[in-house]
Parts: sequence; C-alpha cells; structure tokens
Amino acid sequence: MRLFRRKTFSHGIHPPDHKAETAHSPIRRLPFPPRLVVPLDQHIGKPAVPLVHKGQEVVRGEPIARADGFLSAPVHAPATGRVRDIRPMPTARDRLTPCILIDVYEAATQEVLWHYPWQPRKMDRQALIQAVREMGLVGLGGAAFPSHVKLSVPEDKPAHTLVVNGCECEPYLSCDHRVMVEQPAELLRGVRYALRATGAKRAIIGIEDNKPDAIRLLQKLTAEEPAIEVEAVATKYPQGSEKMLIRSLMGLEVPAGGIPLDIGVVVNNVGTLAMLGALLPQGEALTERVITVTGPGVQRPGNYRVPLGTPIGFVLREAGYRGEAGDFVLGGPMMGPSVSDLRTPITKGSSGLLVLDEAAVRRESPRTWPCIHCGRCVNACPMRLNPAMLGRLAAAGEYQRMAAKYHLSDCFECGSCSWICPARIPLVQQFRVAKQWLRDQERRKRHAAPPRQQPLEASGKEVRAA
Ligand code: SF4
Ligand code: SF4
Repeated sequence: MRLFRRKTFSHGIHPPDHKAETAHSPIRRLPFPPRLVVPLDQHIGKPAVPLVHKGQEVVRGEPIARADGFLSAPVHAPATGRVRDIRPMPTARDRLTPCILIDVYEAATQEVLWHYPWQPRKMDRQALIQAVREMGLVGLGGAAFPSHVKLSVPEDKPAHTLVVNGCECEPYLSCDHRVMVEQPAELLRGVRYALRATGAKRAIIGIEDNKPDAIRLLQKLTAEEPAIEVEAVATKYPQGSEKMLIRSLMGLEVPAGGIPLDIGVVVNNVGTLAMLGALLPQGEALTERVITVTGPGVQRPGNYRVPLGTPIGFVLREAGYRGEAGDFVLGGPMMGPSVSDLRTPITKGSSGLLVLDEAAVRRESPRTWPCIHCGRCVNACPMRLNPAMLGRLAAAGEYQRMAAKYHLSDCFECGSCSWICPARIPLVQQFRVAKQWLRDQERRKRHAAPPRQQPLEASGKEVRAA
C-alpha cells in the first residue's frame, strides 16, 4: 500500500538508488585538514577577487574574497589559519583554478569567529537579499547558482510560489535527506526567509517518496502553517530537476529556453534553505557543507559536515578508502564530474564524494555498439527530445543542425538517455561536446574584431590621389 499520494512527470528513468548505505547515517563532523584549498570560483558567474595576501592570518568566517559583480559570490575562510599562497590548483570545475591555500592552525576550533550584524526580524526584502549575498550562499544542490540572484525577484515579474526541492533524485546521495530529518527547524526557517525575500505567498516542499520519514516529519511540523505545503513526488530520475519538479507539483510547464520565474516560480534546494535558516540568525557566512561519502570504495560510508576547501584525499582518509577504487565522482553518478586528483577540494556545489571501484567503472564504461533504433532514449528523455537523432548528428559533427532543428539547448544533460541506451552510446557526453563547440563559436563571433572602417576623409584623399 502506498503511503502518500504521489505526483510525477512523464518519461524519466529508474536507476538503482544505492541510498540504503547512507540514508540512515546521521551527519558527522569531519576535523579540519592541515591545509585547505579554497577556490575563488565556487559558483556560477565571475570568480571572486582575493581580499587577502600570502602570509596573512585569517579567522574562521572572515571574508577572504569579494564577489565580482552581481552574478558572483564572496568566499570566506573555512578555518582559522594563515594564507600560504594564492595559486592555480586542480578543481572539479577545471584543470587549474585560482585558489587560496590556508594552513590551518592546529589549535583552530570549529567556532566561527567572524560575524555579521544581521537582525533577521527587522530585515525587509532588500536587506535579506543583501545578507544572503554577503554570506556567500549558492545553490548547494550542485548548481552553485548564487542564491541572492535567485531570490531577487523583479517587480515586473512577481513570484507566486516557492518550490523547495527535497527530491535528491541522484543515486547514492542522501545528504539532503539527512538535513531534512535532522535540521527541520532550520529548513523551515530558511523557507520563511525565502518567502519573505521573494514575496511569494506559498511554498511547496517536494520530496521523493523514498524518504517517508522526512515527508511525515515536515508534514507534521507544517500542519498549522497553510503557507507551506509538503508533497510526496514519485521516486524517479530526474525528478529533482527544476522543470520536472514544477511539472510534477504544479502541472506547469516552463517555456523552452525560459526559467521558472517566467511562470512565477522560484526553486531552491532544501540544503540551501536549511543553511540559510541556520546561518542568518547567527550572522555567519558559508564555511562548510554536508556531503555524502559513499560507493564501493569507501569503508565508512556516511554523511559528513566538511569545511569547504577540504581536499578529497583527506575526506577519503577519514571515511576509509579501500585503495583499489578506480574513479572519484564529486556529486551524483548521473551528473557529477569525475575527478582523479586527490588534492581536488570539496566546494559549495559538491553534494557528494562517490568512489566507484574498478568493477563498477568497467560496468559503466564498456565498449559501445551501433544504435539499434530501439527508441528507449526517446522514451526516457524528460525534455521530450530525440537523443538518438541528436547522437547521430553529433557523431557526424553536425552541431549547428542539432541546435537549429533538434533543440539541443533544451537538453540539461541529465544523462537519462546514456544510462538507458543498450548500445552504450555516450550520448550526453556527445551533447556536452556539441554545446561547448557552439558556445566557443558564439564567443569567437562576439570577440571577432569588427571590420575596420576606413575614415571617409582618408579614403577620399586616396581616391583623389589615385
Ligand atoms: S541528457 Fe539531454 S537528451 Fe539525454 S535525456 Fe537528458 S535532457 Fe534528454
Ligand atoms: S537507446 Fe541507444 S540504441 Fe536505442 S535508439 Fe537510443 S541511441 Fe539508439
């Protein structure tokens, strides 16, 4: 018998969820590593600009880099220590990214020592958004989109609903689940702040029905609060993508190429809002996050609270690394980037550290076969695209045709088509290459030197001289 009335969207896939290993593992705090590697671009948008110099002492919570423009976020010291250097280091986002390296003092405590004078009760919309900006909060679900930008709703485009994403549809991950169960008060406080900041009148928390404890708990806590609803949605990938969740919960369609705000909706992740609800009353900035560390290569899988900038090698030492693992993924296996360098840091957007052993890697990357025209990828695609056709065009290098006739830009790289394909064609990887090629072309066009105009007078002189 089903416990909840579930809502859902059409298409999608049902990969094995592998959540049992960590879903009931309470959040534990990891110690500080001896050295932190803090990237300046832990968000979508322009990298932050350093405010500190080599040799400078910093305290936990202090701003160490300022935002560069509206679509950017500041960075704060995750621990008390001394700046060792500012130099490029490998990160999940790029091969080399400018980072602030901090040698952590042995006596450093987990206490945050730098505070903002925020008074949430007295804050209006603008003051709330400014505080969210100052704390360096970004989407913790993986997108790392600056939260102050998401919460800034223009007057001519009001938001009626705040959708709170508690799906966590990626296999293996359970950190959002644990946050909902262990920090419901912070989460609901964050939801109320977000309602105030956006001006929306109603919030709907959507949770996949494989987390019945979280659904029951939040339904109970919001029973007397009509502005906040808690809804169960079907466990299906990619239920947690913004467009799918809006379709499931509200039956509304975000227009092609548009954003949720085009239909009056703002979407935020549960982890992000729980962090907002925890930090704002304390006057603290974002210095740590909860991640799921799991996979066949981990001895003590679980959910860990980790200082930002902690190298994955340190996390693995603490969680127990079997040593024979073949691949590391930062985030979930469907959309998370693979990394191989153990110095790669945990950043604001890292929701998990997945360690696949060699057998799992071999299972997931065998040889490929030609397309057998089975149509499974078409049935799986939540955006109702034709991945088989897109794949054929990608193989032929016809990238422009993919965009012009087959709506490549609507693909949000969920990986459902690749996962379901019996021929093991790496469709989503091909689409990423095609999109990057198109972006490069666009950039080249924009930066191409404008044709030199001949000064009229000079040309006239030349004509006359001739
Ligand atoms: S990766 Fe793109 S084309 Fe493939 S299923 Fe997802 S949205 Fe559709
Ligand atoms: S799932 Fe794979 S084999 Fe089947 S139609 Fe799509 S690309 Fe071809």
